[in-house]
Amino acid sequence: MGLLKGKTALITGASRGIGEAIARKFAQEGAQVAFTYRSSAEKAAKLETDLQQFGVKAKGYQSDAASFDEAATLVQEVLKEFGTLDILVNNAGIARDNLLLRMTEQQWDEVMNNNLKSMFNLTKQVLRPMLKARNGVIINMSSIIGMRGNAGQANYAASKAGIIGFSKSVAQELGSRNIRCNVIAPGFIETDMTENLGGANREEFLKKIPLERFGKPDEIANVALFLASDLATYVSGQVISVCGAMNT
Ligand code: NAP
Repeated sequence: MGLLKGKTALITGASRGIGEAIARKFAQEGAQVAFTYRSSAEKAAKLETDLQQFGVKAKGYQSDAASFDEAATLVQEVLKEFGTLDILVNNAGIARDNLLLRMTEQQWDEVMNNNLKSMFNLTKQVLRPMLKARNGVIINMSSIIGMRGNAGQANYAASKAGIIGFSKSVAQELGSRNIRCNVIAPGFIETDMTENLGGANREEFLKKIPLERFGKPDEIANVALFLASDLATYVSGQVISVCGAMNT
């Protein structure tokens, strides 16, 4: 369909899972794709080649989204290589689950830095080119856990709730410059992140999902495509749950 033809997207954390599905979907729809990963170099190299098969320019960058300096270098390199930057997807994220009584300061800080500070790091760097172009789309990956909380995930829930407040502020601050910012809040999606949950835990989650199944990364990518495209030119400052009605 070519919904993103002529656009350049930067997607963080795309070597696996949801980010990878978004990168593939965007390339399929004609976008040039720059993407990042933290350590999965082999998977990133394969993805880079796969994306190029769609006839678009694509490049993977090893860059830690939690680092302000690395984010600055990354965006400079992407602009040098691709010329423009129209879409930013802040997808990179981690979980370090533990009951609060046992949660360490390190587990709290790691989750905050990777999930929330990363949003600030990347968004800040893309602002100048987007302001100059008077055009831009920012999509931030939260979670329904950021809206409803979850026992054993106080750090993750806090980081994902913070993303919502951050994104609504960005939408209000930059709307007059034609920059849109929205949030996707996935429910339980089948990726490496959720694979480690024990069988009993998975069954408990499943009982709470009216559509009676877990989601697939591609089902998040479809919503990201909508938000990134000109189908959503009047959608900004919103949180879209993609969770099989788990969060209503
Ligand atoms: P995943 O399978 O664990 O993949 C995470 C991806 O992020 C990997 O590509 C990883 O790179 C990258 N990454 C992690 N930290 C990074 C950093 N500091 N800098 C750069 N890249 C980094 O996770 P997922 O399930 O696809 O989740 C993607 C996003 O959706 C996360 O923000 C997550 O919180 C959110 N989410 C997921 C679910 C779910 O059910 N899966 C639900 C709600 C929200 P490496 O491969 O190099 O490690």
